[in-house]
Amino acid sequence: MIVLSAASELYPLVKTGGLADVAGALPAALAAQGVRMVSFVPGYPAVLTALAEAEVVHHFPELMGEPARILKGVAAGVEVLALDAPHLFNRAGNPYLGPDGRDWPDNAQRFAAFSSAAAMVARGLIAGFQPDLVHAHDWQAALTAAHMHYGGGPPAVVTIHNLAFQGLFPASVFPLLGLPPQAFAVEGVEYYGGLSFLKGGLATAAAITTVSPSYAEEILGPREGMGLDGLLRARESVLTGILNGIDTRIWDPASDPLIAQSYTAKSLARRSANRKALARRFNLKADDGLLVAVVSRFTAQKGIDLLAAAIAPLVRDGVSFALLGSGERGLEEALAREASAQPGRVGLITGYDEALSHVVQAGADAILVPSRFEPCGLTQMYGLRYGALPIVARVGGLADTVIDANEAALAAGVATGFQHAPESADALIHAVRRAQALHRRGGPWQALQKNAMAADVSWARSAARYAALYSSLSKV
Ligand code: ADP
Repeated sequence: MIVLSAASELYPLVKTGGLADVAGALPAALAAQGVRMVSFVPGYPAVLTALAEAEVVHHFPELMGEPARILKGVAAGVEVLALDAPHLFNRAGNPYLGPDGRDWPDNAQRFAAFSSAAAMVARGLIAGFQPDLVHAHDWQAALTAAHMHYGGGPPAVVTIHNLAFQGLFPASVFPLLGLPPQAFAVEGVEYYGGLSFLKGGLATAAAITTVSPSYAEEILGPREGMGLDGLLRARESVLTGILNGIDTRIWDPASDPLIAQSYTAKSLARRSANRKALARRFNLKADDGLLVAVVSRFTAQKGIDLLAAAIAPLVRDGVSFALLGSGERGLEEALAREASAQPGRVGLITGYDEALSHVVQAGADAILVPSRFEPCGLTQMYGLRYGALPIVARVGGLADTVIDANEAALAAGVATGFQHAPESADALIHAVRRAQALHRRGGPWQALQKNAMAADVSWARSAARYAALYSSLSKV
């Protein structure tokens, strides 16, 4: 089976979020399932550099006012088709934002062109092969599904990585989309008198997925549905949640070159060298109390205000904190106050440091993720893999990936971490205290670490789910 992936990001070439990871990881993981995935991406500078040797497979005399081409090549081991339209995509920096930090004013044109070109490739018209299915990601590619619906072509799957971004534009843009007039309707791209690219895709896709089963349920309600819950309820029968995976080659404590001491579930004692290294990096006093870490954007979504409120009472109980992240000024300041009030017990490093995040996962006893909502979440999966037991809010992908150490799960020997009710500092404190009690007992804690490290967080599991979905939709 051949699947055309249409996504505006592709790790490692262009990344602003989890979308890039999924689009970058799926081709290799799906190859093992017998699916050939060809990735259609905008021709950003990094993509064009990677495709310097590429073949030109199509010329558009005019696309949104200027000539454009489609290039075909291999980048980062992935079969790539790039829409080389310099007037739309040859811009440095963030793919969606200009140098002033605002959306590019022609984003509607840019991604309408991207989706209509994807539709032509999907129909087998221009790149020399016929995909059996098209998989479009987020609002930037969602209109590909509308093109398939109104103009014909293979079935389309639309995946939601972040429902907060919907591609909303004025109705005046509609003639640029290349869709027939009947698409400007409640059943199509129209949204409160304007246009929603994402809604247009969700309304017309053969199937919709999002990145965890719990989030797939949560977005059916008004709280997480962000205005699209009514439509999603109407399409519930074609909506499923498929968890993201992590790159288990890069995130492997047995071979991670970024950590002080490699280890496996059979040699957990070796982890103590990493715990010492972590304590040193964050200026923490060496002791045996529970060492809890956070690696996160510091935003309200991530529950960092709840964390700030929980630190002082937990430090009094003997817990230490290693905090890595950056984000909203007020939250950074709140954490900085806690760090200076509790020297040696609360260490804060402000910034983004990928290498340090490995040191944290390898050394911390627990990784705390108190998000208000979380479509999937990666840090808790790294925690599982590294035996840093996740303490998470019971939402979205966090609820789906961590098995709470309640009595039943402990008795059955399947627990991998701790869950707490979301949006409550008291519930968070209670969960950390439960973790602390188990940590003091030693043996049972190690049993949880072994369970966590044995959990399957690989892409193989997700790829099998996507492959099953594709074959249920396509006749191949
Ligand atoms: P989100 O995409 O909503 O920020 P995820 O948990 O899905 O949350 O992914 C966040 C990713 O970014 C993880 O890989 C995490 O390790 C990484 N990350 C976040 N903040 C930092 C930081 N300050 N330094 C290093 N890595 C970070």
